[in-house]
Order: sequence, then structure tokens, then C-alpha cells
Amino acid sequence: MEVFPGLEAFFWKDFQINNCNCYLIAGSSRILIDPGHARLVSHVRAGLTEKGFSPDDIDVVIVTHAHPDHMEAAVLEFPRADMTMSHREYDYFRKAAGAYAEAYVPAFFLKEGEIRIGDVALQIVSTPGHTPGSICIYWPDRKALFSGDLVFSRGVGRTDLPGGNTADLKKSIRKIAGLDLEYILPGHGEIVAGKKDIETNCRIIEQFSMF
Ligand SMILES: [Zn+2]
Repeated sequence: MEVFPGLEAFFWKDFQINNCNCYLIAGSSRILIDPGHARLVSHVRAGLTEKGFSPDDIDVVIVTHAHPDHMEAAVLEFPRADMTMSHREYDYFRKAAGAYAEAYVPAFFLKEGEIRIGDVALQIVSTPGHTPGSICIYWPDRKALFSGDLVFSRGVGRTDLPGGNTADLKKSIRKIAGLDLEYILPGHGEIVAGKKDIETNCRIIEQFSMF
């Protein structure tokens, strides 16, 4: 689904099987965010085909965090792309996954702050909590935030998995709350669009969660 020109969303709608939403920024370079599980990647492939792209057209795969439901397909399906995540996240993943992590060595590491990929300028925001090295990706020109598993429509990421930290999650949510946003593009569930809905979502999150 086209969210707006230059951004495609490949939603994961099956609530029985866990997988994540995947996003494609199609500028002068093609940037794929969180391709999901390898065995469940067919809807991403189909979405790319519909837009006239093949997996080999992807230049960069950004992984918001190293859980398999976000990252597994990154290397297996898009071997020509440069895969990237934060240094802290890779360290966490390597400790947890051992030798398996050798297949997922990033082409480069994401640092907090601006990154230019082709004609698109993004800001990497370090947002630990769900995992130690989780990031959100802010696209200031479009006022869009790829929020990974930090915040969802009417929810926040879990912190009960290894490496999760509730105090960090709270701080990270406060950090992104100051951004000028028209779109929250989460790793699971529906997009939150428009300033009003985003404000309402923030209030719901405050009530639901442990703030
Ligand atoms: Zn996760």
C-alpha cells in the first residue's frame, strides 16, 4: 500500500502468526525497513514486484532491532543490499545468538543523527527499551517516524524479553514525543496518521502503560 508517494507499506495482517510490517522508501536509492521473517517474506516480495522492483533493487536494509520477526529476511532475501543496525544492537544480538550472528554482520553501523541515503535524509534516533540497541527512524521531510517496536497504535513494545528495560522504554518514548509527526509507522499493527490521531495515541499510551 502506498502511504504517500515514495513510501510503500507492506503490512503484516495475520494475527495468528507473528511477523512485522515492512516499509520501502523508494527514492534515488531503495531503502527497506524491517523485512521480517525469511519464511514469511512473500508479501514483501509481492509488494516489490507490484511496484516493479526485485529484491536485487534494494540498496539498504535498515533493521530497527535484531529480533527475527524484523530482521531474519534481511540477509537471506536481500543479499545484494547493505544491511545496517545500531552497533549496540549488533553487540546484543551477537551475545544472544553466538555463531548465528556471523551471517548478520552489518555492512555499516547506524549512529544516532542524520544519515543520507541517495536523495533521502533520515535521522536515526536511539530508542532502547524493547531491546538495548533499538532505533527509530525519523524522516523529517515527511514528518514520519518508523517506530519499530517502541510504540504502536494504542500500545508500546514489550520489555519482558531478554535485554528489555522498562525505564529505558519510557525515556525513549519521551524522546520521540517531541518530534514533529504526521505519521507513526510501527513495526506491528496499523499506521497512526495525522497530528490529532497521533496526539490521541500518545494519551492512550500514557493511560495504558506504566507512566
Ligand atoms: Zn521485537
